Amino acid sequence: MSTAMTLDFPAHVPLATDQILQALRRCNEVARQAMAEGHHPFGALLLAPDGVTVLDTQGNVDTVNHAESVLVRRAAAQYDADYLWACTLVSNAEPCAMCAGTQYWGNIGRLIYGISETRLLALTGDHGENPTMALPCRTVFASGQKPVEVIGPVEAIEDEVVAMHRDFWPAR
Ligand SMILES: [Zn+2]
Repeated sequence: MSTAMTLDFPAHVPLATDQILQALRRCNEVARQAMAEGHHPFGALLLAPDGVTVLDTQGNVDTVNHAESVLVRRAAAQYDADYLWACTLVSNAEPCAMCAGTQYWGNIGRLIYGISETRLLALTGDHGENPTMALPCRTVFASGQKPVEVIGPVEAIEDEVVAMHRDFWPAR
């Protein structure tokens, strides 16, 4: 008979508003860099448990390799699951079902995102490279077994994110 592995999900250290905005602005810089290199204007980063230290950043790669999923897979290979639970994934746009799922399996316990998927959908429309879904990340997490904390959308950052996407998709 095997002993069942039990999962433990301690609460996170609360983040101040300026920490949240600072992390999202850094995501926008990563997204801008990705866009300058010919990718989609999405950026993600991994915040350490202190809520300040940026452990890693990742811009969009392509239609299948989204910033968040690529980042989470690399983090899962590098850090242990208990440590990652105390970390925060930050993205300038709400993660899609794939990325929320990857975060869930990667055991990253908190998420901050800038604009909602609904807002993004209005910007990308049915663009072939980014036919945005309409499946909120909270719905994905609520279907799982872990109390992933979600902060977003963050109104104070919305204009800065939208500005990047507004011109990008019609011209793409
Ligand atoms: Zn995604």
